[in-house]
Amino acid sequence: MKKRLLILGAPGAGKGTQARNICELLDIPTFSTGAMLRSQMKAGTELGKKAKELIDRGELVPDSVISSLVGAELQSPRYREGFLADGYPRNLEQAHFLDQVLKNMGTHLDAVINLDVELEDVVGRLLKRAEIENRSDDTEPVIRRRLQVYKEQTEPLVRYYREAGLLINIDGNGSIDQVWDSIAAQLR
Ligand code: ADP
Repeated sequence: MKKRLLILGAPGAGKGTQARNICELLDIPTFSTGAMLRSQMKAGTELGKKAKELIDRGELVPDSVISSLVGAELQSPRYREGFLADGYPRNLEQAHFLDQVLKNMGTHLDAVINLDVELEDVVGRLLKRAEIENRSDDTEPVIRRRLQVYKEQTEPLVRYYREAGLLINIDGNGSIDQVWDSIAAQLR
């Protein structure tokens, strides 16, 4: 069974929703650098304050910050049997770091699920979510910047993981249930 997974996709592609489904199906914990950063922000730590400035502009938090968070988090025994990383890695440097951490732990990724969506559609989805969740990084200019950062820095990971033979590409344009059926069919 595949137990060490990533879910990739543009902001608003539906990663969080499908991540919950995957974790339930495979009985593995999720691991979200976005959620880790938001909890630092909520706790008002120095790291959280610095991260907030960048997040509110749609920029990535520096790799060094993310690497120390992830490096420490992955040592937790809760991830021993597997995990699904959501929103991480965001660029090639982070992907290389993750490869190294897992290698040091004597393990490796089993698969990378890419939720492939039309980038123009996600702007609408994110604006809708903004009304519901009240996240300070869900305003239109910030959403556009996040999509640009995604295209420049994160999308190259699709090729990286395809070449590593790990990529499972999923058409993410349908309904939540349709997308879930496609993912589940690949994981069962
Ligand atoms: P979304 O998928 O909607 O963009 P996330 O919760 O994954 O939401 O991330 C929110 C913000 O947190 C990102 O726009 C970015 O500023 C920051 N962030 C999250 N994960 C990372 C990461 N791995 N590297 C750098 N910045 C990150």
